[in-house]
Amino acid sequence: MRFHFFSVLCPLLLLLSGCAGCSAPAEETPPAQRQLFAMDTLMSLTVYGPQGEAAVQAAQQELSRLDGLLSRTDPDSQISQLNARAGDGTWVPLEPETAGALEFAQQTAQLLPGDFDCTIAPVMDAWGFTKQECRMPAPAQLERSLSLVDSAALLVDPSIPAARLERADMAVDLGAVAKGFAAGRAVKAVLDAGASSALLDLGRNVTVLGDGPGGPLWRVAVIDPQDAGRYLGVVAMRDQTASTSGGYERYFEQDGIRYHHIIDPKTGYPADSGLLSVTVISSDPQLADALSTALFVAGKDSALDFWRGREDFELILCSAGGTVTVTEGLEDYFQFQGDAYGYTCETARR
Ligand code: AMP
Ligand code: MG
Repeated sequence: MRFHFFSVLCPLLLLLSGCAGCSAPAEETPPAQRQLFAMDTLMSLTVYGPQGEAAVQAAQQELSRLDGLLSRTDPDSQISQLNARAGDGTWVPLEPETAGALEFAQQTAQLLPGDFDCTIAPVMDAWGFTKQECRMPAPAQLERSLSLVDSAALLVDPSIPAARLERADMAVDLGAVAKGFAAGRAVKAVLDAGASSALLDLGRNVTVLGDGPGGPLWRVAVIDPQDAGRYLGVVAMRDQTASTSGGYERYFEQDGIRYHHIIDPKTGYPADSGLLSVTVISSDPQLADALSTALFVAGKDSALDFWRGREDFELILCSAGGTVTVTEGLEDYFQFQGDAYGYTCETARR
């Protein structure tokens, strides 16, 4: 059996230096930089300008604090406390941020029922992803864990704030939304510290703020899901987040079959929608993160239908057949480079 936990090793999206067609403002102060390990991910923060040092420190502190609240594996986190008291009938008091992240996860489950459910934790455990002891679960174990997935039985009251899980052995896993939620809070920390130009690379979730070092747009690469050493293309972005979800990020192989960490709540099995990766570009970091996971489960047709009903994000979908589908809002901003590796690119229109 072979294990692969890509997220720990390498960020999915790479920042490329330079910016085509932009005049570069002279950058006199070197950027302030930090790396930290949080939310199972190596994060890199870069903030430009005279307030950079204070801003990068504030962002780092906020990310560490949120990791301490939202972690599924830290026994002292608020999510672990909530999970430990599943089914005992009591409301578990929470920090406003924890309640906010739970509420947002619930909203996503309502938007994309059957694709997204933050009470997926028992199924993640059954597959061994939580403790990195991956294996194919026995059918009875999978059936029981799947019966515990029910976001309607997660109650959140932001006015207290508190939450409760209605049934014993239920559990919450915010892995699909925590980084995006944290990115939004880190952006606020940077702005509050008086900085306005930053790159917050939280692994597969990259947020760019203000001017880049080479001009008003940042160039962010989207990795080829079939070879992390290559990329499908480059997106020019500003004040936006690019969040990517893909089955190649975390998986194991058993008897020649690959099983990855994004679960279809309808089956309890790794999602098999025909997509290799989904990248969501949005000015809302938490939306980008939540949707990249949910739309990976939903599949190409449903993802594009969902996109047609909204105006607040764009998509880059990489299908198993080798097609890269880019929604029309990115037409002038995505530079396709996957032709070198046999991919073809198409534009999806409203
Ligand atoms: P991401 O890397 O943002 O796509 O999130 C993947 C993580 O989300 C997994 O490692 C699980 O913690 C969690 N997860 C897996 N499947 C689902 C799902 N269908 N709905 C909500 N969360 C999920
Ligand atoms: Mg996500």
